[in-house]
Amino acid sequence: MKEQSKLIRSQATRSSNREHSVPLYLTSSFVFDDAEHGRAMFAEEIEGNVYSRYSNPNTAELIDKIVEMEGAEAGLAFSSGMAGVFASIAGLLRSGDHIVAFRSVFGSTHQLFTQLLPRWGITTTYVDVSRPEDFEKAIRPETKMVFLETPSNPGLELVDLEWIGELKKKYNFILNVDNCFATPYLQKPIPYGADLVSHSATKYMDGQGRVLGGLVVGRADLIKEMMFFIRHTGPAMSAFNAWTISKSLETLTLRMDRHCGSALKVAEMLEQHPEVEEVRYPFLPSHPQYELAKRQMKQGGGVVTFTVKGGYERAKRFMDGLGMILLTSNLGDSRSIATHPASTTHSKLNDDERAQIGIFPGSIRISVGLEDLDDIIEDLATALDESK
Ligand SMILES: *Cc1c(COP(=O)(O)O)cnc(C)c1O
Repeated sequence: MKEQSKLIRSQATRSSNREHSVPLYLTSSFVFDDAEHGRAMFAEEIEGNVYSRYSNPNTAELIDKIVEMEGAEAGLAFSSGMAGVFASIAGLLRSGDHIVAFRSVFGSTHQLFTQLLPRWGITTTYVDVSRPEDFEKAIRPETKMVFLETPSNPGLELVDLEWIGELKKKYNFILNVDNCFATPYLQKPIPYGADLVSHSATKYMDGQGRVLGGLVVGRADLIKEMMFFIRHTGPAMSAFNAWTISKSLETLTLRMDRHCGSALKVAEMLEQHPEVEEVRYPFLPSHPQYELAKRQMKQGGGVVTFTVKGGYERAKRFMDGLGMILLTSNLGDSRSIATHPASTTHSKLNDDERAQIGIFPGSIRISVGLEDLDDIIEDLATALDESK
């Protein structure tokens, strides 16, 4: 079966009630057949559901779909994308270990690396994505993991997955890729050599801004080690969220085609607009990594980042002038969203740090939704004209 068919037809969970659609298993624990069964389950001699902190039919069903799509061996589901990112580090690394990360990581990932992990003796060196020659210099004997995000949020910088996959062969680190912006439909890091791939399922996987969720899939031995961590620390995804996200996956490829098609048109419109200083979109020929984007991504994704002339004051007037498009910090929703990264998601960084990852006072991130493209373009164009 092709990918889209599998997303619709694969149903790992079937109860005896002959439901056509996967039911929701709202139960915290599961019953043992007898005392011996309970003992064997806890001894992990046999597989099965014991307690929903460990596993649940709905999370298992969702994990199966993403494992299949990413070409992974195994996976885990989390209460949020950040819970997954944290578990992929805390579950595998120890005090004294070192991470090399590309600088343009998600805001909370950045806080985790700089403010929290040092408390437990795990340090991070950041490398500029545009200077990959610095990368090898950053690697030390104690470097256990390389963490990257491609395309990055919101700078839309790309990391060459083939290149990093080759380097991994030389240095033997765990390659951990946040694939949230692309989704497994647009980009699959595992064939390039990624050991772990993480997702905020809150974004395109749910796609309607309803629930939080995270997934990490990859090598079976690493997932098993992480399982021990999550079993005893409890960042599990709820059955309801897993059920919701799994249902949404049935339309993932259709939605992504539409998000990407509209985003490219929005990017082209903005690039032509005299009030716009710069537009970033991976599939715009003016993107510095356009060729790379074409090589490793199926389409350019649903996010466009641009900078208006006139800095923060102008960006504020622009955002307040939007009609249909609402201001919120989510993305990957069926509704188009505008975000001002410098004053919200990336406000903890200073001006210099922001500029280095392509965020300026006038930068605005648009998550292009599924509304009629004419309405999206009209709203953006009107707000641009009227904020002069
Ligand atoms: C949103 C996001 C996360 C965090 O996910 P949550 O579900 O909000 O915890 C991590 N990485 C990227 C790239 C994101 O966009």
